[in-house]
Amino acid sequence: MKGAQLLYSGKAKSIYRGETPNRLIMEFRDDITAFDGTKKNVLSEKGAFNCCVSAFLFELLEREGIRTHYLGRLDRTTMLVKALTMIPLEVVVRNRAAGSIVRNFSFTEGQILNPPVIVIDLKDDSRHDPMLNDDLILALKLVTPDELVELKEIALAINGTLSEFLDGQGILLVDLKLEFGRAEGEITLGDEISMDSMRLWDKETGRSMDKDVYRFDKGDVMGTYRAVARRITGGRCEV
Ligand code: 5GP
Repeated sequence: MKGAQLLYSGKAKSIYRGETPNRLIMEFRDDITAFDGTKKNVLSEKGAFNCCVSAFLFELLEREGIRTHYLGRLDRTTMLVKALTMIPLEVVVRNRAAGSIVRNFSFTEGQILNPPVIVIDLKDDSRHDPMLNDDLILALKLVTPDELVELKEIALAINGTLSEFLDGQGILLVDLKLEFGRAEGEITLGDEISMDSMRLWDKETGRSMDKDVYRFDKGDVMGTYRAVARRITGGRCEV
């Protein structure tokens, strides 16, 4: 990012100061990591696919009246976003059991969770993102009681909108991870919505179409990202 001041660099994205106050530039890099960053690679064009899919889904959510930080795409790997004061929570909505809740509890892989199950983890790599409960979230003063109710309502609304949309593309939204912040006091969706943060299964074959392909060496990661980006956006993310 030529000339822009780097404010923060995470495992797969970097944040730069925008040209106007309260605006930031979010860059999606080609880095991919798993298992608390212990597995790492660089996959060419991964940033462009995730940026494009995230932009497409943020636009979809905005049309549904959900407040997001997204303001527009700048180029293949960057978007302009509202500056948020981030809340260090990972809000995971689960429609089917997979991943950590199958490891941690007596669910079977693929078990339907209806109503969807919300699991909230602390966003803190040094503590391995431990699972929280409402009392802990409030005792840690991460949000107010009203905000906690609102966070869950918004997370379920996002999950409903995206589940329905993806179902129409032949994709099962197994779970997704959301991160929120505050802008002018309003709870606002931040971060990304991409193949890195959703668990997606092909409805017909049950095959993984997300970062699990990378995590568990299930096949061609970029081939999968390219194919799922094409399906989600109707070909608008060709790289
Ligand atoms: P699990 O808790 O089963 O590992 O993950 C649940 C969902 O949240 C999956 O879709 C997974 O990709 C997403 N997720 C959980 N933790 C992280 C994280 O630290 N980064 C990203 N990008 N996604 C995460």
